[in-house]
Amino acid sequence: MKSKSATSWSATQSEDLYGFKRWGAGHFGVDAGGFVAVQPLADGRAIRLMDVVTEAAGMGLKAPLVIRFQDLLRHRVVQLNEVFSRAIREEGYKGDYRGVFPIKVNQLREVVDEVVAAGKEWHYGLEAGSKPELMVALAMHEGGKGLIICNGYKDPDYIRLALLGRKLGKKIILVVEQLSELDEIIRLAAETGVKPLLGLRVKLQTRGEGKWATSTGDNAKFGLNTAEILFAVERLRKARLSSALRLVHFHIGSQVPNILTIKNAVVEAARFYCQLAQMGFPMGYLDVGGGLGIDYDGSRTNFDSSMNYSMDEYARDVVHNIKEICDDAGVDEPDIVSESGRAVVAPHSLLVVEVFERINKRESLGQQHRPREKHKIVTDLEDMLKNKARLGRLERYHDAVQKKEEAFSLFSLGYLDLENRAAAEQIFWQICEQIGRETDRSGYVPEELRDLKKLLADQYVGNFSVFQSLLDHWGLDQLFPVAPLHRLNEKPTVNAVLVDITCDSDGKIDRFIDLQDVKDYITLHPLNNKPYYLGIFLTGAYQDIMGDLHNLFGRVNEVHVFLENDEPNDFYIEEALAGSRVSDVIEGVQYQWEELCRRMKQQIDHATKKDLVKPREGVRLLEFYESQMSAKTYLNIERGGGRKPKA
Ligand SMILES: *Cc1c(COP(=O)(O)O)cnc(C)c1O
Repeated sequence: MKSKSATSWSATQSEDLYGFKRWGAGHFGVDAGGFVAVQPLADGRAIRLMDVVTEAAGMGLKAPLVIRFQDLLRHRVVQLNEVFSRAIREEGYKGDYRGVFPIKVNQLREVVDEVVAAGKEWHYGLEAGSKPELMVALAMHEGGKGLIICNGYKDPDYIRLALLGRKLGKKIILVVEQLSELDEIIRLAAETGVKPLLGLRVKLQTRGEGKWATSTGDNAKFGLNTAEILFAVERLRKARLSSALRLVHFHIGSQVPNILTIKNAVVEAARFYCQLAQMGFPMGYLDVGGGLGIDYDGSRTNFDSSMNYSMDEYARDVVHNIKEICDDAGVDEPDIVSESGRAVVAPHSLLVVEVFERINKRESLGQQHRPREKHKIVTDLEDMLKNKARLGRLERYHDAVQKKEEAFSLFSLGYLDLENRAAAEQIFWQICEQIGRETDRSGYVPEELRDLKKLLADQYVGNFSVFQSLLDHWGLDQLFPVAPLHRLNEKPTVNAVLVDITCDSDGKIDRFIDLQDVKDYITLHPLNNKPYYLGIFLTGAYQDIMGDLHNLFGRVNEVHVFLENDEPNDFYIEEALAGSRVSDVIEGVQYQWEELCRRMKQQIDHATKKDLVKPREGVRLLEFYESQMSAKTYLNIERGGGRKPKA
């Protein structure tokens, strides 16, 4: 692009367009060279993402690539503990904060390791929701002050594992989610002679808000209703386990966008807590569950992918409301437990995707077709393109759609030949583009014309799978910030949606963050025969483990990055995890690579006998097939070779 506007574009304008400052929480920005830079500790020390991408590629780890910033993860743990400490100090609260990290949000060992190490000073603990997670928590947890909270469905062995932890002196609390669990716990406590610590998960009436609103209320999957709580405490008394009851727990769902929901839930749960304390149970902990959000779109609203509060405000409200209710009831203020997962891990990692192809609807129809005998419908459309009647854009759009549909009916009835149909389609898209350009210049855009802009957006094809790396976008319409990692001092001029390489029309990103609403496209740079990289940000929570093997793509490459002052780029890659290889993913669905190679050999031998291939060629073909077993599953993009990206 040589136009003036292209050269007058600045990195700051890009920063604003893609919203880095709004959703980046002080960690993400654009440097003067037009590159995205990350400040893991938000202290001015910045790492250029493209430097990491280049270094990783040098190690054989090309995009799609997950980059984890271990210092950013540490920073979030510290931040969460500090905001609670501050709120406790400022409110003159008498209890402590004893947060736990819910392992299900990111189970990767390097993540759990970092979280445990970062939280040591505050006795930050772990939360498990299943037996495998509890096995991890038991081994990774250290010290006698931090908690292990046991949620989820529990079989006898799950309970035995928790009792094992008790024997080692760990503060491990079994949260009763169903009455039947309580009977098992009582039986096994007697059997092993170990006294458990118990919590009750209460089913709140406070309705959640956001995508996980059904986590509360009468139809919630977990928790005890009021009558069941009364049953439970009776049973504990009878079993002489009254002194085991220590905690009240609730969880109103993840990503709660509205602070009012949180306040109401905390108040209701604090009442439960006080009632139980007044009934004479020792208590000591109030667990407010997860739900602390991430402002994915940076709008600071109660929209699903946003939140209308800050982490500070969350901590202050939790502390303040518990204090108020307890003081009112004359009950000692409990230690506060929170199970914030998303808010701790989401910002620390991102997915890097290489875009290698652009698909444009009108271009894909080829050059303008000039039918030998032009049908009247084609000349009508041509007149419309010239807009001789000087109609408004909406009216022209309606007329063009009508003509296009007429052309399709004529074709079906046999009155229009292939060439005329192609010409009609071609001119239709030209008219749409013309109207689209006019829309850009005027302010108000009627709904139909907004849809037209979406229709006109190009498709940028990225080497990744939504099903592996962004399942919440596919399944829950959750929005993640997307932005180029470089060329940010060039004006982006192409409206596009991002499609992945799975053979599934759902495999795409066509909803993007926007301050007002949701955008149907993102504005990107024209491709230029060089690699073009996009970052999909804030993907550190849930996405890694929810991903599936659709089309057998499997795990992507991954690097773990640390800040380092003595290194030339101020960072080093400590750990590199190679993505799935073909042999890995096919074994997951019960094929053995040796068996497949043997079958291929038979077929090639057979073809050689029949003289379909020469013996020497047969050997080469088999070698190639075998070598692909250890190839990575994603596209191996060769530039300058066979596959040239279309600009
Ligand atoms: C999933 C879950 C969490 C984590 O929630 P976030 O919103 O990610 O903080 C906490 N507690 C329980 C019981 C959960 O099921």
